[in-house]
Amino acid sequence: MTQKLRVAVVGGGIGGMTAAIAMLRHGMDVQVYEQAPQLGEIGAGVLMTPNSLRLLERMGLGDPLAKVGAPVGKGSQYYRMDGTPVAPILTTDSSGWNGMYGMHRADLLGVLAATLPDENINVGHKCIGFEQDDKGIRLYFENGATAEADIAIAADGIQSVLQKHVVPPSRPVHSGSVAYRGLIPAEKLPSWPKGVSQLWMGEGKHFLVYPVRSGSLINYVGFVPSDERTKESWSAPGDAAKLAEEFSGWDPRVRELLAQVETTYWWGLYDREPLEKWTSGRLTLLGDAAHPMLPHLGQGANQSIEDGIALAAILAASDAEQAPAALETYERLRRPRTTKVQLGARDNGRRYDSEYQDLATRDAEIAGSVSFRSWLYDHDVEAAAHQAMAGVK
Ligand SMILES: Cc1cc2nc3c(=O)[nH]c(=O)nc-3n(C[C@H](O)[C@H](O)[C@H](O)COP(=O)(O)OP(=O)(O)OC[C@H]3O[C@@H](n4cnc5c(N)ncnc54)[C@H](O)[C@@H]3O)c2cc1C
Repeated sequence: MTQKLRVAVVGGGIGGMTAAIAMLRHGMDVQVYEQAPQLGEIGAGVLMTPNSLRLLERMGLGDPLAKVGAPVGKGSQYYRMDGTPVAPILTTDSSGWNGMYGMHRADLLGVLAATLPDENINVGHKCIGFEQDDKGIRLYFENGATAEADIAIAADGIQSVLQKHVVPPSRPVHSGSVAYRGLIPAEKLPSWPKGVSQLWMGEGKHFLVYPVRSGSLINYVGFVPSDERTKESWSAPGDAAKLAEEFSGWDPRVRELLAQVETTYWWGLYDREPLEKWTSGRLTLLGDAAHPMLPHLGQGANQSIEDGIALAAILAASDAEQAPAALETYERLRRPRTTKVQLGARDNGRRYDSEYQDLATRDAEIAGSVSFRSWLYDHDVEAAAHQAMAGVK
């Protein structure tokens, strides 16, 4: 019997954890190495869209996700800053399946962490070094530990330490905007519409609202221009009064919500130019380590989940010797799609921030974005992975 493929995943975020769960289910020997002393996420929302939710449901996570998700559906709407309706927000795939949840990031990671057995997770392991030869890889950790495996997956986020072993070092690109984010208990806004996502678009700014945690919390994000370069952390405390001032004169609904904000956090918005390569021998990149993107299509986490599922499906047919070729197949499958999403997120940010002479043109583009969204939401990356593998046989 061939030996199980040994996989080391560096980073226990949404992408790394999804990949590890999927690989374990395909019978691989997986270890996740996470720098933090425990798995966790700082609170705010992430919108799960049909392209990733169908994959997580297929892995049997439908029920736990339904317990913590807040369904987002019909009635979701784009507005101009003064409240003029622009177009509905698409919340289904082309079959009409409404696979969309607003989720608290901690709840999503909690579901993933509860699914992966503890024996497959090593917290307190900050990776600081990497070596490979034609037989396998070795990781070095700050705590003095080392680990060996057949391949390594760098799922260590936008500031990836492993990325430099694949491509020359480069700096993340600052977008010129920051996002203020926070959560408001739903009972503080009793007349706020339930089960919808709403987005207001003004000059240089936009404002996004959707529910999380079964609808008990309302998640808001205010995007505003800024020269200040924060780290790509979003845990820096922000000033609620300054945030309200940024959106004074906007739709009364936005102001009503902002009047309830007590605590807010801000987050510098960065992405990277699409990378020309994700794989070097027995090491490949995944999630934000491979394709950090602006949040204007709500796809960073969703694409990381697609990566993890695709990688696991492709590796399932490989042994240690074949694994480097499988990593190349994964990259060939994933890089064109995530590049399109990275660049699409930049374009959409310009729409949301009304960088148009003529707002009617912008509004028409927003209304017409249904076809791009359908391309995003209809994709079944697992089926695509099987096709990609058939293509290389
Ligand atoms: C506030 C916020 C809101 C967002 N909203 C959305 C949204 O609505 N929809 C969406 O799809 N995406 C959203 N995103 C983007 C999405 O969250 C990210 O794209 C996604 O989390 C990427 O997952 P990842 O696992 O690749 O990276 P990360 O989540 O960054 O995880 C990386 C992990 O690696 C660990 N790590 C880093 N370095 C090391 C090391 N040297 N050794 C060991 N471990 C290490 C980190 O501690 C972390 O746990 C949002 C992002 C943020 C920050």
